[in-house]
Amino acid sequence: MKPPYADLHCHSTYSDGSSTPAQLVENALESGLKALAITDHDNIEAYHVALPCAKSAGLHLITGVEFSAQHKNKSVHILGYGFECHHPDLILFCQQHRERRLMRCKKTLALLADRKMPISEEEFLALWGHDVEQVHTLGRPHIAMAMVQKGYVSTVQEAFNKYLGDNRCCHVPVESFSPEQTIALLHKAKGVSVIAHPHLIKESDLLLDLLKMPFDGIECFYGNFPASANARWVKIAQAKKWLMTGGSDFHGDVKPFLKLGSSGIDEENLLKLESRINRL
Ligand code: AMP
Ligand code: ZN
Ligand code: FE
Ligand code: FE
Repeated sequence: MKPPYADLHCHSTYSDGSSTPAQLVENALESGLKALAITDHDNIEAYHVALPCAKSAGLHLITGVEFSAQHKNKSVHILGYGFECHHPDLILFCQQHRERRLMRCKKTLALLADRKMPISEEEFLALWGHDVEQVHTLGRPHIAMAMVQKGYVSTVQEAFNKYLGDNRCCHVPVESFSPEQTIALLHKAKGVSVIAHPHLIKESDLLLDLLKMPFDGIECFYGNFPASANARWVKIAQAKKWLMTGGSDFHGDVKPFLKLGSSGIDEENLLKLESRINRL
């Protein structure tokens, strides 16, 4: 199948993907993509590393991020594009997310230790090769992988099913920023905000609330979902005059069923996105 023009949703080793930013650029070119946005969870570092590779290879790279937000105790993912990556408020926001995530990991490790599955904080951080600056985003997948390494579970999926999944015994609920705060922050940094993978939102009241918020777009084309499933979101974008974005949510080996370029947008929708960004 012909690849889309742009894949605007993928993860690097700066969050829970298994490819480095440079490998993502290489993979994008091999997959026939013309443009790419790396959207790490709560982290914008990959852009700086990937930009020189993308420039020399002739791939159009757009700044991207996937922020974790919280609305009425439910988790919401918000994509941001085209922001100024040196904006101080954005850098501080990412820093706050990192601190929040590190605290949450420490709480999870304590719960695992209570259940005779100790992983010390030092051990956990050393495993991910993090320096004191903590530039990477840590999350539940990292804890799950550490549990596999320690032999407490056989697979990452088993770790989620038994301990880390939502409402399981070692799950620590997320405490994050609201969607409204996240949207405002992205606008301040001259970026657009987009509802990520509405396909995965199960609660209709949550979706209705989000659709009333001042987003600029919605991720209509996502992962392995067929055109029939994407059509609903295209209609909503058209009715609201919102931007249509799309991407694979590629994570590399972590989610091998998702390939880079499996979803995305055409050139026309990318031009619309860029012209909106340029007007901010
Ligand atoms: P976090 O942001 O730390 O809460 O981790 C969220 C990530 O964990 C998601 O992006 C998924 O990749 C992964 N995840 C969440 N729930 C599950 C689950 N039940 N099974 C497998 N992976 C999961
Ligand atoms: Zn992820
Ligand atoms: Fe997501
Ligand atoms: Fe994602």
